[in-house]
Amino acid sequence: MKALSQRTLNIAASLTVAIDSLAKQMIAEGKDVVSLGAGEPDFPTPSAVCEAACDAIHNGKTRYTAPVGIMDVRKAVCEKLKNDNGLNFTPEQIVMTSGAKHAVFNALAALINPGDEVIIPAPYWVTYPELVKWLGGVPVFVHAGAETNFKITAKQLASACTEKTKVVLINNPCNPTGAVYSKAELEALAKVIVEKDIYCISDEVYEYFVYEAEFVSMAIFKGMEERTIVVNGFSKSHCMTGWRIGYDAAPLPIAKIIGKVQSQATHHPSNIAQYAALGALKMGKQEIQKMKDEFLKRRNFMVENISVILGEKVSAPEGAFYLFAPVSKYFGMKTAAGEVIANSIDFCQYLLETQMLAIVPGAAFGNDGFVRFSYAASDDALAKACERFKKGIDSLKA
Ligand code: GLU
Repeated sequence: MKALSQRTLNIAASLTVAIDSLAKQMIAEGKDVVSLGAGEPDFPTPSAVCEAACDAIHNGKTRYTAPVGIMDVRKAVCEKLKNDNGLNFTPEQIVMTSGAKHAVFNALAALINPGDEVIIPAPYWVTYPELVKWLGGVPVFVHAGAETNFKITAKQLASACTEKTKVVLINNPCNPTGAVYSKAELEALAKVIVEKDIYCISDEVYEYFVYEAEFVSMAIFKGMEERTIVVNGFSKSHCMTGWRIGYDAAPLPIAKIIGKVQSQATHHPSNIAQYAALGALKMGKQEIQKMKDEFLKRRNFMVENISVILGEKVSAPEGAFYLFAPVSKYFGMKTAAGEVIANSIDFCQYLLETQMLAIVPGAAFGNDGFVRFSYAASDDALAKACERFKKGIDSLKA
């Protein structure tokens, strides 16, 4: 048999998805797993969204749509971008996608030539480097450590740029750290991006979950409109993870290329999910606000409890719904079975096997010294998770 695609063999499967699938399978098998693995809000999809989808089905909106999506939906996305973010996009610049992940893929596909460098602040969402590699690009990581609140500076960005740099991928608020860039920090990054004449993919899927800070879109700054692709979706804001619906908002020539890719690859995201997204855009923000209030309480609970368990203060993430906690001090310790915990993967595997607690190793996000908890889970699940985390740690021996 001839060899399979080397390019595809070279990329790793998503660890967040793998952990989520494993935890769900274990739960289906009757195991008492507490899963803080995937970032998946535990609230139901709002009824207004479900009704919009049901109406679409009953009204025969079950045929193909244009590759870029339904005009009314794209118009509603433009209104959202105008009202919430102060951005001026036309419907021709919007491409509806099968979730924000797909929107990131589309954006990279439109920009990358083999050998192009893509700057990715690390820690990063697990998917970014793999998609870059898959498309023949080269991920270039810029360290954003706890000492800088997990954010990169304009100076770091400038020094990471080379002749080959094509794009920087900014995730604000950030998964897995919850870091939120201030307006001044973004403006400084934008200046470098314009000066170096590179593109920016701005993944803003957690925009509504910002607690003490203010969310500002990267596309707002001078010179950024023509070089920024805004990525967003409904999975997190409207508890629509399984609906797979998001979008790219891009400069017109880029939106056109994305539409072309989509016409060949997927044709378009589900017609029904697009109408559901329209329902989401029309329903107002009360439910998002309620969720955000809940997430804030849960964040505080997790920060407080995990800090006590670790015996060190874990700083409160300003956005998203993840807590990125340092665990490297447990590396080198032994489990009751005599196995050595060498890294964050061993650590998480140990917690899953012995405590039935699913969390994600920092290695997935480019920082092995940490683990990620998703606190988009019920109070009960979070309390149990803390108990199990403590029990797991207390059972390790030096
Ligand atoms: N984005 C979520 C996470 O990071 C869902 C899983 C995924 O697509 O990575 O957990």
